[in-house]
Amino acid sequence: PTNNVAVSRNPANGELIATYAYQTPSEVERLLDANSAAFRLWRATPMRERVAAYRRLSATLRDRSDTLAALITAEMGKTIKAARAEVEKCAATIDWIADNGPAILADEPVSVDGDDQVHVSYLPIGTVLAVMPWNFPLWQVVRASGPIMLSGNGFLLKHAPNVMGSAYALQEAYEAAGFPKGLFANLIADNDTVARTIEDPRVAAVTLTGSMRAGSAVAATAGKALKKSLLELGGADAFIVLADANIDLAVKAGVEARFQNAGQVCLAAKRFILEQPIAEEFTRKFVAAVQQMTAGDPLDPASTIGPMARGDLRDELHQQVERTIAAGATLVVGGRKLDGPGNYYAPTVLTNVQPGMAAFDEETFGPVAAITVADNAEHAILLANTSDYGLGGSLWTSDIARAQRIARRLETGGVFINGYPASNARIPVGGVKKSGYGRELSHFGLREFTNAQAVWAK
Ligand code: NAP
Repeated sequence: PTNNVAVSRNPANGELIATYAYQTPSEVERLLDANSAAFRLWRATPMRERVAAYRRLSATLRDRSDTLAALITAEMGKTIKAARAEVEKCAATIDWIADNGPAILADEPVSVDGDDQVHVSYLPIGTVLAVMPWNFPLWQVVRASGPIMLSGNGFLLKHAPNVMGSAYALQEAYEAAGFPKGLFANLIADNDTVARTIEDPRVAAVTLTGSMRAGSAVAATAGKALKKSLLELGGADAFIVLADANIDLAVKAGVEARFQNAGQVCLAAKRFILEQPIAEEFTRKFVAAVQQMTAGDPLDPASTIGPMARGDLRDELHQQVERTIAAGATLVVGGRKLDGPGNYYAPTVLTNVQPGMAAFDEETFGPVAAITVADNAEHAILLANTSDYGLGGSLWTSDIARAQRIARRLETGGVFINGYPASNARIPVGGVKKSGYGRELSHFGLREFTNAQAVWAK
């Protein structure tokens, strides 16, 4: 970000797409007023009308899929196929919320002794400010706004500066679907303005998806103002392969889990922890598959991996790789920036990675896989839990019952057995330890920003 302007630049060729001036204090005032007025209207709107707006929203997203996907690819560089899938995932999630949300938010009767009538209502709390990252410019926002708004809340979006076009496209989709104007609103602001907005009485709570650093700053401001916060932060997910796993399936999934979205996924597999007997075979096949990947123009269907979203993030990733090698790891493939325009980084595999090295201890937010060999399953569990993070994880074995027992010992918000993590409307997503707190999606997400009001009638 440069002074007072958000800059959107195509990471595949460096071309400027657009700039967006930060809003002035009086523009922010008007935005907050309009948002509050829209919230009062929306909270009084019957659930069936809210649901009808959700259905129009999913239809609008599908109608605009080509334009939205092209915009996502231009702004952050994922392949056009992945961008189309992202739009469809948003539409499908809005549909799921429309189908299932009303029952989840309906008054819940509670039985008590005697004839008293008791129930719990799930009421809106006001406007939730969402600070969002660029890696899934539409999906991260829909994952937050979909559940938050159904209960009648307002939504203010502070998106990442490089994906402001996507932020506006989503705001337009909400408006086209007939949501009250201003209810879903874009705040274009620096971090100080965000802090003041969190303190503003017109904002009830804040949700953030992003780095530990951003989460800690935003949660501190919210805490001081006595407002609830939800944090979806980074991850250093383990991808554990035990000796009895189906190696070919694990290799295929491992490549997707690490290199999708050019590795810029919070829930991506980052630390491959391999049980000794299969470590050599897995590594050999994994490296061969990585060598088959084609880095290139994300609009070209032949490309399997696009550029990283920003040049500074590529520089940081490269430094992590160099520090890991300097600490004793082995570079097997990749490990360099690709020449030419665009922020391309060669798909990279490091072996002999140990706790204490950057690629093990830190989150690598790009196309770099770190491989560590474990003596046995117990050692694999210990290594997996040796992390400040606790977002998701993957466990490969042919013994599901054993895997389910191991899952209980993994300190993460999700465990995927013979599969890899992906958020899905039906299940909660979120982390423990420094990956954050609170849950999005499912009934947890729908109720997260509500007032669970107890009503007791004698
Ligand atoms: P980031 O630098 O933390 O930025 C995320 C958002 O936070 C941006 O909108 C950014 O805006 C804002 N921000 C940063 N510092 C702030 C502050 N002090 N006050 C207010 N807002 C602040 O992260 P990123 O590089 O965009 O995204 C990558 C990170 O997000 C990774 O750690 C990744 O794991 C995490 N992530 C987590 C999930 C999840 O579900 N858990 C999903 C996706 C990504 P400015 O740029 O304007 O500062």
